[in-house]
Amino acid sequence: MTQLEHKRHFDTIIERIEKARLRVSDHHIVKIVAASKYVGVEEIKALYSIGQRAFGENKVQDMKSKVETLEDLPLEWHFIGNLQKNKINALLSLNPQLLHSIDSLDIAHALNDRLTRDGKTLRALVQVNSAYEESKSGFTPEEFNDAYAQIIEQCPALHLQGIMSIGAHTDEIDVVKKSFELTRSLFDELPNATICSMGMSGDFELAIECGSTMVRLGSILFDH
Ligand SMILES: *Cc1c(COP(=O)(O)O)cnc(C)c1O
Repeated sequence: MTQLEHKRHFDTIIERIEKARLRVSDHHIVKIVAASKYVGVEEIKALYSIGQRAFGENKVQDMKSKVETLEDLPLEWHFIGNLQKNKINALLSLNPQLLHSIDSLDIAHALNDRLTRDGKTLRALVQVNSAYEESKSGFTPEEFNDAYAQIIEQCPALHLQGIMSIGAHTDEIDVVKKSFELTRSLFDELPNATICSMGMSGDFELAIECGSTMVRLGSILFDH
């Protein structure tokens, strides 16, 4: 694909986001995080050259090699995968912009201990499994409020910014919508939260209509 074709493709996605956003309100802002796990640094550079700045990875090792190779570009790196405890040091050394996926009190405490020791802080979201799917990580909607409050209280090095969720894995739009609405209703109760990260290639317009402020797009940006 030429740069012009690539830009046109990206513009069609931005228009779709724009239309969905305006169905919510003129003031509703949505940020795109490009989920770059499927691609290498050349494709990240190509997307950067047409204006994208925020990229998300779900494996610490892959993120490390991309961050290091692209360190001269002013990119913003998000970690969107499940974080294992033995990868905490490697992740923190990359100074990510945002961790989307705190999914247990145990990982929150482990992050807080390491951050405190290093005199650092980290912006993070807490993940909720609003679709109640076994295969997904995150707190259940019932556990979520307490977990969020406990992390604020017990993990001061984690600066919580809001919620992250993955929509229900089904073609039934009503079921997906319900999972997004549940996520948004939990978000609305949070103190000082500004980020509701939900919506991927197959469901981002619906997610935005349900109140998402951050979409994580992978395949739609990169497979063509
Ligand atoms: C890969 C990934 C995405 C993007 O998925 P697509 O369906 O390819 O857009 C979003 N969120 C997370 C957590 C991911 O791992």
